[in-house]
Amino acid sequence: MITVVGSLNMDLVAEAPRLPAAGETVLGRQYRQSPGGKGANQACAVARLGVPVQLIGCVGADEFGRQMTANLAAFGIGHDGVMAKRDAPSGVALIVVDDHGENQIVVCGGANATLGVEDIRRQAGIIGNARAIIAQLEVPLNAVATAFRMGRDAGALTILNPAPAQPLSDEMLRLCDWIIPNESEAARLLDPPSNRPQEPASLSAALRQRAPGIGVVITLGAKGAWLDHKAERLLVPSFPVEAVDTVGAGDVFVGAFAARLVEGGTSRQAVEFATAAAALAVTRAGAQAGLPSRGETEALLQG
Ligand code: ADP
Repeated sequence: MITVVGSLNMDLVAEAPRLPAAGETVLGRQYRQSPGGKGANQACAVARLGVPVQLIGCVGADEFGRQMTANLAAFGIGHDGVMAKRDAPSGVALIVVDDHGENQIVVCGGANATLGVEDIRRQAGIIGNARAIIAQLEVPLNAVATAFRMGRDAGALTILNPAPAQPLSDEMLRLCDWIIPNESEAARLLDPPSNRPQEPASLSAALRQRAPGIGVVITLGAKGAWLDHKAERLLVPSFPVEAVDTVGAGDVFVGAFAARLVEGGTSRQAVEFATAAAALAVTRAGAQAGLPSRGETEALLQG
């Protein structure tokens, strides 16, 4: 079983001919809403790949919260660890997409920001059953650190997807068995943080210096993913596909990597499996719609 500790957001998406300037109102063409949030997206990716998964997180005691919880149930995700908070609304992402595919996004974390250390401690039963704990940074860092400490005590692997980017202490990095940033997130983890593009090999070497023993996978978009773990350092190329929507590719990658790892796959097999699942994900629109299944992912891997 995998436990994801992370966010749930309702994505409210307006399509408009162009993005509004400050103070301007633009008439939209279409509107849709869909459940998202990195925590929920990664849990959905794991579930679609056929590995049992539970989500720990917070929603508001409101209609979006009920809809997002029902969505988890529809994916077969355990949601006993999803707490409905009375003091905050469910998280939302307000997204405007224009005719050229440019977008503008405001995320209001709402209840996600209330996930506290005590909330995590209350979920000891779920964490104690996990073979791996996955977390991201859309919920408070001390909640993630607590979950990782409890997970490690119970013998689980800890996997951090440090998104959105923020600097992390050596202590936090050392709680991670695996860290999976994209290139810009990896640069922000350097000490001092950097905004310059850098070679993946030097990024992972710097991270391993700060947290000896950590496994590093840096995702490189269409170029693939760089694996640096123990004595293994290699680039796993991505599958050449026609990209339609790369939003959420990273979430599928992280979920698939963890899924293959808890099944006993080697780190290289896990990165290859994740690369195949993420390639399928970019050929389809939506973060949770069109997630790749187990069979599709294995078929792509086997060619
Ligand atoms: P994020 O979306 O978090 O920024 P990346 O853009 O690095 O992450 O993408 C994550 C993974 O998704 C990549 O490592 C790769 O395996 C896959 N991927 C992303 N874009 C493409 C693409 N255009 N073609 C094939 N695979 C892709």
